[in-house]
Amino acid sequence: MDTQFEVIIIGAGPAGLTAAIYASRANMKVLLLEQETPGGKLVKTYKIENYTGVESSSGVDLAMSFMNHGLAFGAKMDFGSVVKVENVGKIKKVTLDNGKEFTAKAVIVATGTKERPLDVAMADRFTGRGISYCAVCDGAFYRDKVVTIIGGGNSALEEALFITSLVEKVNIVIRRDEFRAEPKIVEEVLKNEKINVIYKHLPESLIIEDNNIVGLNIKHVDTGEITPLMCSGIFPYIGADPATSFLDKAILNERGYIIVKADMSTAIEGIFGAGDVIDKELRQVVTATSDGAIAANSAVKYIKNNF
Ligand code: NAP
Repeated sequence: MDTQFEVIIIGAGPAGLTAAIYASRANMKVLLLEQETPGGKLVKTYKIENYTGVESSSGVDLAMSFMNHGLAFGAKMDFGSVVKVENVGKIKKVTLDNGKEFTAKAVIVATGTKERPLDVAMADRFTGRGISYCAVCDGAFYRDKVVTIIGGGNSALEEALFITSLVEKVNIVIRRDEFRAEPKIVEEVLKNEKINVIYKHLPESLIIEDNNIVGLNIKHVDTGEITPLMCSGIFPYIGADPATSFLDKAILNERGYIIVKADMSTAIEGIFGAGDVIDKELRQVVTATSDGAIAANSAVKYIKNNF
């Protein structure tokens, strides 16, 4: 495969795939790099109802359509996890964990965020065996059982609503006495008879029997009282952190998000950011696609002016 490109886009979610459309249509030679499944978080999302022009779609359907569109104008795609982006003169060299190296005149980072892991003892050991970060992927394993979702943001509540169609009962454990999610979703959750909301509690420890998860001990944030919550599956949705470990800290804020100007450029010439990975207020599919278009347009301008 060719290793020299004009634009390398890291991350094939809504931002990266949109950047690929715009850069390819500007006649750039484009490479998209992805470490998992193209589509980003969309692939793990049950339903999307707030992307303009698409009143309702499954996350997977929208992801497929984004991917087909993203590659329709000639962008190439390869797989692997990026471990380094460095300057070699004016050129950027991008190194993957599988040893592959590519070069480009500009790089757009659209790597999104990674789910925060559940912070209780043995959570690692039981991930994939009772603890899951994807209700859409693993929900069917808990058919007619009781599951517990942790977190009160949009992700937690949307996935709670999805999983009610499969399971007997859903506990949602939140650490405050109010949700972070948008009101329409909160309203739906509160009127769903299969959902039991437990306020002001944090996960404390797993309850294990015969090497299987049978519950979760939760702790009251004020009184410290511990309550056992019997359930077969635990779905933590406690936020996410930016996937930027391979980037120069000079372009990141204190939480690791990429600091960009309005044109999506960063403090390093030729590196642009787009999507959930940038420092911004509203993380949505619609804002990610917009960032991707702007980043590609700026990368094309940068290349035309500097090479
Ligand atoms: P989020 O909005 O940051 O919510 C995280 C939730 O987990 C909050 O309820 C938070 O509690 C709780 N939490 C954080 N750390 C915790 C801990 N250690 N233990 C227990 N609970 C903890 O994360 P998200 O739901 O993954 O969403 C991420 C971004 O994507 C947001 O900007 C969201 O709006 C966006 N998103 C949008 C949609 C949509 O519009 N359809 C869907 C999914 C995600 P506190 O509230 O007390 O901090």
